[in-house]
Amino acid sequence: MARPMSGVVRNVIIIGSGPAGYTAGLYSARALLEPLMFAGYMSGGQLMLTSDVENYPGYPQGIGGPEMMVELREQAERFGLEVHDKNVERIDVSSRPFKVWVEGEEFLAETLIICTGAEAIWLGAEGEDAQKGRGISTCATCDGAFFRDEEVIVVGGGDSAMEEATFLTRFANKVTIINRRDVFRASKLMYQRAANHPKIEIRPFRTVKAWLSNEKGLTGAVLEDPRDGNNEEIACTGAFIAIGHKPLTRFLDGQIETDSSGYILHHEHTMTSVPGVFAAGDVVDSRYRQAVTAAGMGCAAAMDAERWLEDQS
Ligand SMILES: Cc1cc2nc3c(=O)[nH]c(=O)nc-3n(C[C@H](O)[C@H](O)[C@H](O)COP(=O)(O)OP(=O)(O)OC[C@H]3O[C@@H](n4cnc5c(N)ncnc54)[C@H](O)[C@@H]3O)c2cc1C
Repeated sequence: MARPMSGVVRNVIIIGSGPAGYTAGLYSARALLEPLMFAGYMSGGQLMLTSDVENYPGYPQGIGGPEMMVELREQAERFGLEVHDKNVERIDVSSRPFKVWVEGEEFLAETLIICTGAEAIWLGAEGEDAQKGRGISTCATCDGAFFRDEEVIVVGGGDSAMEEATFLTRFANKVTIINRRDVFRASKLMYQRAANHPKIEIRPFRTVKAWLSNEKGLTGAVLEDPRDGNNEEIACTGAFIAIGHKPLTRFLDGQIETDSSGYILHHEHTMTSVPGVFAAGDVVDSRYRQAVTAAGMGCAAAMDAERWLEDQS
């Protein structure tokens, strides 16, 4: 791929290359807007971290996350999406054309579609990296069904942890919730629903010190009591970390309205607080966080950008 030309005003620059970005790329390329994409530090997005995606429509046998992202990219490139595997450092949306800086170089566009996603917050416990997307997940909706009749743990004390644990009882024999303290951030209702479930055990005052595994995958965890440092082992073949997500919006430097957690807010359909700047996928969505919902929103953002451009001419 040739270097993208700076100085030329593009119709659309798409920032981020997950399902939202590639779908926005596909739609805007097919609308002949000649979109330019900066794919970012993790080309392909979060699905590059997972081996099996079984809930994206159109793949009856499931598909590997990285394979799916290669296919999404190929499909969008076929219609002319220009992709560069580079990170956007900062933007200036105070006037049009908008400015985007990549490796110190300035690019101009009439519209931006921000699809930079969110990062799950991981524990960083010993052995975690090797089991990410194998035995250790951050999404029960995505991976829960892989743990039918097995024992799993959920780490966290908020509503997400309670929801994930309750959902996992559909598949797992036993679900143990591990929380650092005996105070839970979850709402009373969500906590009680989990606490009253016969398959769920709640273990307060525990942190994960290390993950245990063999050649087949995860086998358990070493738990530590933060009060006295005592260790114990727990057996599990799956673990779900539910301690939060961080939307990747720091590079916006406060120019686009976000909520207090940093998720971009939509003002009109997929348009943000700045007319001409659109956003799609996990960077605006703290609720569903699915590839298919991100892709759907990417489609909507591209269509909104196209209509907005038409209205300007
Ligand atoms: C381990 C794991 C397994 C999952 N399994 C499933 C599943 O089975 N099914 C399902 O539906 N969902 C699953 N999900 C959730 C799914 O991956 C996300 O909902 C989806 O990827 C969100 O898409 P997105 O396009 O919004 O953003 P992301 O996929 O998060 O992509 C964000 C993109 O933005 C780029 N970026 C970030 N900052 C910058 C920047 N400054 N400049 C340029 N680019 C930037 C990154 O490089 C990346 O390409 C899983 C998630 C994880 C972590």
